Amino acid sequence: MIETDVLIIGGGPAGLEAGKTIALENLNVVILNKNFKNKQTQLVYKSGLEDLDLFVGNSLLNEVQELAMVSPNKNKVTLSNDNINSSEKGYLIDSEKFIQKLKKETIDLGCEIKNETKAVSLEKTKEGYKVKCQSNDTDYEINCKILIIADGYPSNVSKAFNIKSPSKYANICQCLVNGIDMDKIEFHFGSISPNGYIWIYPLKDSKVEVGISIEGDGHKKYLLKFINSYFNLNLKDIDVVEAKVPISGVINNPIRDNILVCGDAAGQYNPFIGGGIISSIKGARYTGKVAAGAIKNNDCSRDFLKRYRKLVMDDFGEDFNKLVKVRNYAFSLNDKEIDSIAISFEGVSFYNMNLLDVLKRLVSISPKAILKLGKLL
Ligand SMILES: Cc1cc2nc3c(=O)[nH]c(=O)nc-3n(C[C@H](O)[C@H](O)[C@H](O)COP(=O)(O)OP(=O)(O)OC[C@H]3O[C@@H](n4cnc5c(N)ncnc54)[C@H](O)[C@@H]3O)c2cc1C
Repeated sequence: MIETDVLIIGGGPAGLEAGKTIALENLNVVILNKNFKNKQTQLVYKSGLEDLDLFVGNSLLNEVQELAMVSPNKNKVTLSNDNINSSEKGYLIDSEKFIQKLKKETIDLGCEIKNETKAVSLEKTKEGYKVKCQSNDTDYEINCKILIIADGYPSNVSKAFNIKSPSKYANICQCLVNGIDMDKIEFHFGSISPNGYIWIYPLKDSKVEVGISIEGDGHKKYLLKFINSYFNLNLKDIDVVEAKVPISGVINNPIRDNILVCGDAAGQYNPFIGGGIISSIKGARYTGKVAAGAIKNNDCSRDFLKRYRKLVMDDFGEDFNKLVKVRNYAFSLNDKEIDSIAISFEGVSFYNMNLLDVLKRLVSISPKAILKLGKLL
């Protein structure tokens, strides 16, 4: 039987960051991780990394200065150093190397990571939880005072505690395309990706990574169609990495006695522009700080742990929940409406523009926005 202060289920960005935060408080942490997800290119913004004092290290694949939103008839709204705060630079990273870097930092701080290991059953004890773990053919048990659930979406572990997972998800997939030279990130909107969007990440050596996020099925089919038409190719099939991501905002109740939920499992994923690495890491840091405080205060009750929810809501949770409405509005627009919005934003300077300014401008173009976004203004 292993005894630890905190047991974390899930060794993605959220689980590893929670582990680091708790180890920094000189407490014992064990992380269980079932397996590593497929390798892919991911986008993080410089400002998000700076907020967290995070470095991408050798996972950096490309640094991109410009980002363009592309409407169905190819109008482009470009965000660059000329019209936005220059700290909004995009870093394209190798997800596998980034996780390896986080893992090394976590181990260096004294966390124990049990790879290829999954939690198979959980039992309440007087002190906290007893978790039965399975690795290859070996079973063993771990006793902990606090259990952190960071098992990604749809979080099967949360279900064991009747913690509601995010109610809505998008299907996403992504693939590498060779022989294409691009220098800016592009996001494409419209009926090419119903209730969602397509992204292109430019890499070095004439490669791009192209992905899609949509609410329904057929994501791979839409992605293949876009790749063939946009790059004038005739591919019959593509090799994709795919997954589901939560898009209904942060969950209401990520807390039980001795339990905290963070990362995708808690809906800490931007429901509009996508992306969950930075927000999952932020959420995980709050989880770690509150868990460490609870153990030091000898109070792991739900009442003590509920400060975690407030920290998340004040930081990004409220914004994410508003962005669910922005998403619903944006993806209810038809191709013609998207084109007219793109035309109206072409050449606009986004310096000093906040979400409210963008929404006000949208309302002035599209009357539908007043109905759908009215309460946010
Ligand atoms: C194709 C794709 C592209 C993406 N692109 C971007 C991007 O460009 N930018 C961005 O910011 N985000 C992106 N994301 C989202 C980002 O990857 C997630 O938001 C982020 O990984 C969430 O971290 P997490 O730790 O909460 O969950 P995950 O990364 O899902 O990690 C959960 C971990 O828990 C483990 N686990 C699950 N169940 C158990 C169990 N019972 N026992 C033990 N371990 C368990 C899993 O093996 C996994 O390692 C993308 C996602 C995908 C799939």
